[in-house]
Amino acid sequence: MDRISVMRPWLGAEEIEAVTEVIASGWIAQGPRVAEFERQFSQAQGASHGVATSSCTTALHLALVVAGVRPGDDVVLPSFSFIATANAATYVGARPVFADVDPTTGNITADTVEAVLTPATTAVIAVDQGGVPVDLQPLREMCDRRSLVLVEDAACGAGSTYAGTPVGAGADVTAWSFHPRKLLTTGEGGMITTCNPEWASRARRLREHSMDISAADRHSAVLAAKESYTEVGFNYRMTDLQAALGLVQLGRLPEMVRRRRSLAEDYRTVLASIPDLRCVVDPPYGTSNFQSFWVEVLPGFPVDRDELLAWLAADGISARRGIMAAHLEPAYEHHSGVVAPLPVTERLTDSTLILPMYHTMTAEELDRVLDSLVTAAGAPGRHATRPSTANGVRP
Ligand SMILES: *Cc1c(COP(=O)(O)O)cnc(C)c1O
Repeated sequence: MDRISVMRPWLGAEEIEAVTEVIASGWIAQGPRVAEFERQFSQAQGASHGVATSSCTTALHLALVVAGVRPGDDVVLPSFSFIATANAATYVGARPVFADVDPTTGNITADTVEAVLTPATTAVIAVDQGGVPVDLQPLREMCDRRSLVLVEDAACGAGSTYAGTPVGAGADVTAWSFHPRKLLTTGEGGMITTCNPEWASRARRLREHSMDISAADRHSAVLAAKESYTEVGFNYRMTDLQAALGLVQLGRLPEMVRRRRSLAEDYRTVLASIPDLRCVVDPPYGTSNFQSFWVEVLPGFPVDRDELLAWLAADGISARRGIMAAHLEPAYEHHSGVVAPLPVTERLTDSTLILPMYHTMTAEELDRVLDSLVTAAGAPGRHATRPSTANGVRP
């Protein structure tokens, strides 16, 4: 029985050709392809500037630096996110302060943020969790009213829309991921998009040791000009190999989104008959790319989340625990950033799982996952004999 993965990147001959061309050109580090990828990606997202980076984690770090977040500041963000969101605030010496999330979308709201604001708060990081667009406008108004910087962590969001436009366009600065777990991939990679020209040019320098002349420009001259280092920077560069991959992948993005939305519809059609499994859906104000197709295992379901994961694994299906809660990890467990209880975060992180979904998923593979879920739904109840999960094999 072949194993069904939770996610697989969609790569083909065009990617191989694009990367091969870069190798043949003799210029593989950050150069013309990175510049072209920045231009095309930022244009696709409705932003005037794009600064490519080595990952979304480094993009978030740079975003907070250029936004002026400083040691001692508080940055409000969801605990219900990949831990990199909270780490970015920690990198600049700020305190991540955790806001709870909306139970339907898994995203922070203006209300959950307001509940945890402190006098030291200078920025908010809104996440489009799993590709579900965050309701940005109320956050935008709240941040404007209080002069807070609004950063969007759109790591999962390429191809999702908010009020008819690509997500990310309404924040002051947005960070993207091109990790293979997301839709559009460059292996590793990220980008900042912003309409603020000063922030973009500072981020562009900072990702390259804060050199006032880019390495690409210096190397294109026979006699390189003497560069100077304007502040303490980083090496957060993307390579032209990655950007060449990204350019092909960007062209595939609309098709990837269509495919995932169609798979989500197929899942929902069958899962609608199982009332105690709640599927992620589009919010009223936008569309998701379904980067993560998650379900919540409600109390009426015969087995709990971990048992359902083991049940699927016994059928050769690799699902994943849902979104993590950063405040429960050892890295943040004794941290002072929990200023109010996070009941929705804690419930969702315990009760959700991410089902397999990838571009090349076949009808047979989808049926296998659905059959396994439907059978689990008919299993003896939680209070009857529980299936053994110790070795991942069900009785
Ligand atoms: C994946 C992810 C990141 C980190 O992206 P990298 O490119 O791997 O650094 C950050 N935030 C969220 C919400 C993510 O899902």
